[in-house]
Amino acid sequence: MSQARLMDGTALARRIVEETGERAAVLTERTGTAPCLATVLVGEDPASVTYVRMKQNRCRTAGITSRHVALPAATTTAELVGTIEALSADPGVHGILLQHPVGEHIDERAAFEAIAPGKDVDGVTFASFATMSFGLPGFVSCTPGGIMRLLAAYGVDPAGKRAVVVGRSAILGKPVGMLLLARDATVTYCHSRTRDLSAAVREADIVVAAVGRPRLIRGQDIKPGAVVIDAGYNAGNVGDVDFGSAVERASLITPVPGGVGPMTIATLLEQTVEAAARQLGVTEG
Ligand code: NAP
Repeated sequence: MSQARLMDGTALARRIVEETGERAAVLTERTGTAPCLATVLVGEDPASVTYVRMKQNRCRTAGITSRHVALPAATTTAELVGTIEALSADPGVHGILLQHPVGEHIDERAAFEAIAPGKDVDGVTFASFATMSFGLPGFVSCTPGGIMRLLAAYGVDPAGKRAVVVGRSAILGKPVGMLLLARDATVTYCHSRTRDLSAAVREADIVVAAVGRPRLIRGQDIKPGAVVIDAGYNAGNVGDVDFGSAVERASLITPVPGGVGPMTIATLLEQTVEAAARQLGVTEG
């Protein structure tokens, strides 16, 4: 069998960011207000600092202003909730991103739920999870939303297909499974307690790996012609799928890096402009 075609997330994300920049420019011209994303970071975890900086830089290139709130590591749940409630009520802020993780002493869920649903451009609230699960308009969790965009861009219609999602985290596995279900896939979730992961993966027309274990999924378990989405990102730029063997069996596969990764920020920016358009009362089109 020939090698799988690569799903180029870098190129697709670049196009989305460009289009988002054009929409942001039109919105700014029409309303005199640029879309604004508030980023909230608790503590100084180096990876989180880098992620937030990347998001701010991308915002800048797309004509989105960002307002950064840096809080000390010792911030309490009440203080963080208060900060987010203030941003939720601030008409100058259109989207809110609370960088995960926030520190174990904080009730992260309470902090997420303080984000007004209309500003939940990272798709982390229960309200967003519900609309996403029902396939209703609303903001999606960014990595799962990016995965669905990649599938659509490569002509993969999930309807009627067997999708196996490996991983069930709140930000990735669970929501991507719900998005696939909303698009009429037959979805199986696998996780650390799954008894025979290989057997489940072998059934899949679409595999989504969202685990955080380098090369856990091997080519021998990929059904010939399956679509393989590797959301994993492990040390040494290695995904959760053994790319070298999987590329020989799949029909489409995301590389790591350059597959799912760039789609996350692109989705965040797109949703920020969407949120701003709604709040500024501008109907696009
Ligand atoms: P997470 O919260 O640690 O969740 C990992 C999931 O994998 C859990 O549901 C866990 O099961 C499951 N799991 C662990 N070991 C397993 C095994 N041996 N077999 C089957 N399932 C297993 O991780 P996450 O935040 O979802 O991230 C997953 C990966 O995606 C990481 O590599 C992360 O870096 C990457 N990621 C990438 C992006 C991006 O923008 N590209 C964004 C987010 C995350 P249990 O629920 O039973 O514990």
